[in-house]
Amino acid sequence: MRNDKIFEESKLYMPGGVNSPVRAFKDVPLNPPVIKKGRGAYIYDEDGNEYIDFVCSWGPMILGHCDEDVVNAIKYTSENAISFGATTEIELELSKYICTTLENIEMIRMVNSGTEATMSAVKLARGYTKRNKIIKFAGCYHGHFDDFLVEAGSGVMTEGIPGSAGVPKDSIKNTIIAEYNNLEDVKNIFKKYGSDIAAIIVEPVAGNMGVIPGKIDFLKGLRKLCDEYKSLLIFDEVMSGFRVAYKGAQSLYGIKPDITTMAKIMGGGLPCGAYGGRKDIMEKLSPLGPVYQAGTMSGNPIVMAAGLATLKKLNENSEYYVNFEKLGKKLEQGIRQISEDKSISMVINRCGAMFSIFFTSDSEVKNYKDARKCDTTIFAKFFQHMLEQGIYIAPSQFEAIFLNVKHTEEHIDKFLQAVNTFEAFI
Ligand code: PLP
Repeated sequence: MRNDKIFEESKLYMPGGVNSPVRAFKDVPLNPPVIKKGRGAYIYDEDGNEYIDFVCSWGPMILGHCDEDVVNAIKYTSENAISFGATTEIELELSKYICTTLENIEMIRMVNSGTEATMSAVKLARGYTKRNKIIKFAGCYHGHFDDFLVEAGSGVMTEGIPGSAGVPKDSIKNTIIAEYNNLEDVKNIFKKYGSDIAAIIVEPVAGNMGVIPGKIDFLKGLRKLCDEYKSLLIFDEVMSGFRVAYKGAQSLYGIKPDITTMAKIMGGGLPCGAYGGRKDIMEKLSPLGPVYQAGTMSGNPIVMAAGLATLKKLNENSEYYVNFEKLGKKLEQGIRQISEDKSISMVINRCGAMFSIFFTSDSEVKNYKDARKCDTTIFAKFFQHMLEQGIYIAPSQFEAIFLNVKHTEEHIDKFLQAVNTFEAFI
C-alpha cells in the first residue's frame, strides 16, 4: 500500500512523518491517507481512494480544490513573477481589495502565515499602547507563537498538553488566560491589570476547541472593556474570515475590532497571512513607526494573485454564502435527528460553513471546559467510520469541519448516510 509505505518512510526524515502535528492522526489513531490530488469537493490518496473533503486544507480551500480561476492566476503570475522581495502592483491590488471591501481594515500588512499575523498584531498592540499584557481565551488557538501557547486549542488541545516545552516562563508571564464566553472573568482581569493590558486577542467564532461561536453579549462586552481601558481588541479571523461571511465574524456580530488577523482563505491555498485595522495603529509599523516587523516572502506575487482570485470570486458570488447556510442547516438538522433517533449524545455547533460534532452528554458546549469533557474515544471511532465511508473530516474532536462551494446536497446526503450507519461502533 503506497499510503503506508510513504508515511513510514516520511517518519525517517520528518518528526512524526509530518510537517504539522495534527496531520499525524495520532489521536484517532490511524496512519493518515497520503493525499495525491484534489479536484472540486474531492481529494484522492496514493492508494486511489476517493474522499469527499470536509477539511479543505484546514479552511483555505473554500472554492474547492484546484479552482480554475485560482489555478489560472497562479499560472499567469508565475510566468513572470515568482519572488522579488520588492514592491509589486499585485500586492497593492490585494491590499486595496481587502481595504475597500472590509470596512474595518484601513491599512494592511501581508505576512506568510496565521501565526505570523497574530504574533505581529500583538507586538503592534504592545507598541501602540506601550503596555505588556494580553488576554487570551482558554481553547482559542492563535498559532505557535510562544506567548499564545498556554491552554491553547487545536493540536495543543488534541495532544492534551497544557502548553509547549521550550517556552520560557518569561514569554508567557504577560499572557492572562480567561474563560471564553465569560465576560465576568474578563471584567475581573481588567479590574486587576487594566492599565497594563495592551490587547485582548480572541477568535470571535472559535474553531480550535471545536466550533464555539462567541456569544454576542460576550463579544460586545469585550469591545466595551477595551474602550474603557484603552486596550486594543484583536479579532483573530484567520479561520472565520471570508468563511462565516465574506466580511468575517465581525460583520455578523456588528463589532469593529481595532486589528483583524487573517490567513487561510485570503491566500487561496498558498502560504499567507495578514493583519490590518485602524490607520493610526497600522502606521506604528516600520518603516513609518517604531514597531519592527518584516519578511522576505511577505506579499509574494503568486500568493497575492491566488488570494485576489479567491477573494474576488467569493465577494462577487454572495450566493455561495446563502448555499453554505442552506447546506449547513441541512447537515446540522440531519445530524441532530440521527442523534435523537439513535440516542447518541451529541452537541452540534455551527456558524455558516464551519461546524463541529461534539460527543458529550451536556446540552451545550460554550467554552474550553465543556469541550474538554467530550468523549474523544467515541470521536476516534466516529472518525474511523467516516473515513471508511469516504468522508474526510479533521482527525480531532477539537477542530472544525468545513464546507466548500463545490459541496452539493448529494455530498451532504452522503455525509448524513455515513453518520446514520455509525451506531454499529457504539
Ligand atoms: N489563528 C487561528 C484562529 C487559527 O485557526 C490558526 C491555525 O489554524 C492560526 C491562527 C495559525 O495559523 P497558521 O497555521 O497559518 O500559522
